[in-house]
Amino acid sequence: MLVNAYGAHAGDQPLEPLQITRRAPGAHDVQIDIAFCGICHSDLHQVRAEWYGTQFPCVPGHEIVGRVAAVGAHVDGFRPGDLVGIGCIVDSCKHCADCDDGLENYCDGMIGTYNFPTPDAPGWTLGGYSQQIVVHERYVLRIRHPEEQLAAVAPLLCAGITTYSPLRHWNVGPGKKVGVVGIGGLGHMGIKLAHALGAHVVAFTTSDAKREAALHLGADEVVVSRNAEEMAAHAKSFDLILNTVAAPHNLDAFLVLLKRDGNMTLVGAPATPHASPNVFNLIMKRRTLAGSMIGGIAETQEMLDFCAEHGIVADIERVRADQINDSYERMLKGDVKYRFVIDNATLAG
Ligand code: NAP
Ligand code: ZN
Repeated sequence: MLVNAYGAHAGDQPLEPLQITRRAPGAHDVQIDIAFCGICHSDLHQVRAEWYGTQFPCVPGHEIVGRVAAVGAHVDGFRPGDLVGIGCIVDSCKHCADCDDGLENYCDGMIGTYNFPTPDAPGWTLGGYSQQIVVHERYVLRIRHPEEQLAAVAPLLCAGITTYSPLRHWNVGPGKKVGVVGIGGLGHMGIKLAHALGAHVVAFTTSDAKREAALHLGADEVVVSRNAEEMAAHAKSFDLILNTVAAPHNLDAFLVLLKRDGNMTLVGAPATPHASPNVFNLIMKRRTLAGSMIGGIAETQEMLDFCAEHGIVADIERVRADQINDSYERMLKGDVKYRFVIDNATLAG
């Protein structure tokens, strides 16, 4: 089936309207009419070939929400009309230790929502900047938020789970002091989620202008990271720092803010590497530096349910498909509060 989409033919070309093919739903597949799709900074890294190995045409988008249009003969869990989401994963091997543990995100055979190999045409997956998607039921998430919030739920499918997973892994809760570095799409969700989990939250930003807004998002304190005095006031005090920054920067400036046994988890994935941190900043207080990638399917459902229960959605700006290129430029300038979400009805053309 042919559907309208928005994508690029080369890394140095803007995104433009194109048509793609979706497979007919197989026995375990769910066919989804996409209502909204968030714009993640990863979309920009991939479609501009900043990360290795982009296949063209590239249709990004892995913050997908919509309604079930049809289901395969063996699908029990979903019916036409259900509100559902698709995040960054559309397949995995289904039998390794990671899949058995519900951590499909770490399966060596994980298939991402775009730019991963698939038997479907054209040979790599095509994402949510499109009218429809067909996905195996295992990777379909149920949305329990009210329908009016659907557009603002979309970013939970990547920005939400990518911040929720490390917050849970490092046992964030009451009595813990958590830093969130970078108040963008991921960071603003990290602040909301860490706050809802009961932690004392400090937001780190390079933009003085975001100070007030960060407090409204749920931060208890805000630090402008360019201000050495403000940074020094938090020396050796954090249990966890969640670093969402999309560009190389000085990691040592944050490592020294961790207390003994504190951890900094990097989720930001800049196209070029950070300078290596000074090992003494790790050795001296038995600090650790970690990474984390999105989250498993069960954990993503847990996060969506947690957000529905606590009334948490992303702060978004809705855009038309023909505003995607402009939205990328604005995202690079930090001019977004805090996630662009495409209204996929505007792909109808
Ligand atoms: P975003 O909306 O552009 O936010 C990134 C934020 O980082 C900016 O708002 C800015 O915050 C800060 N920042 C940007 N450039 C900076 C610089 N040169 N120095 C210091 N701070 C800077 O991006 P996003 O969608 O949240 O994604 C963030 C990163 O996470 C991207 O690299 C993305 O690919 C990656 N990602 C990783 C995963 C994963 O599974 N690990 C999942 C999704 C995305 P302030 O203005 O507040 O300083
Ligand atoms: Zn993403």
